[in-house]
Amino acid sequence: MPAPRFCPHCGSADLVQRVPAGDTHQRLMCGGCNYIHYLNPKIIAGCIIEQDGKYLLCQRAIPPRPGTWTLPAGFMESGETTEQAALREVWEESGVRAEILSPYSIFSVPAISEVYIVFRALALEITGQFGPETLDYKFFAPEDIPWDSIYYPAIRQILERYIEERRTGSYGIYVGNDDTGKVHFIR
Ligand SMILES: [Zn+2]
Repeated sequence: MPAPRFCPHCGSADLVQRVPAGDTHQRLMCGGCNYIHYLNPKIIAGCIIEQDGKYLLCQRAIPPRPGTWTLPAGFMESGETTEQAALREVWEESGVRAEILSPYSIFSVPAISEVYIVFRALALEITGQFGPETLDYKFFAPEDIPWDSIYYPAIRQILERYIEERRTGSYGIYVGNDDTGKVHFIR
């Protein structure tokens, strides 16, 4: 996220990095009005939706990596809950109306300051209409998933884990980074 060049509060160009009194982190601060620019991670919410052993994937129409396949997911908007954001993204990107079953994966990507929250969800209605961020959507059987064209390794791991867990009938909740973490099972 690029830092602002002018104070969003008073318009001054007198912005400096320093640690505000009582704070623990360096922040961009305004010398004019003492405004503090906080940078916090963005939340991306989405769903993994399985129906009769097939998995809903969307083909990206937009950068990064257009043409790759991924779970429907996107940036949470202000005023939403994570569940609302996840279901809205499913709707916008695949035209599927769904309902949340449970959390499935919560992973942080500290290098780019993002947090992904992926829910298990159930498809209620498949309308075939989807928005401009998607080229195509499809429910794939595991053997038909375009594994080499999955958007991002962490998304691939979610799919692989789900396929494995579906065999056992017991679904865990992953918490960790995009590469290392732990699957928690509640018994
Ligand atoms: Zn200012």
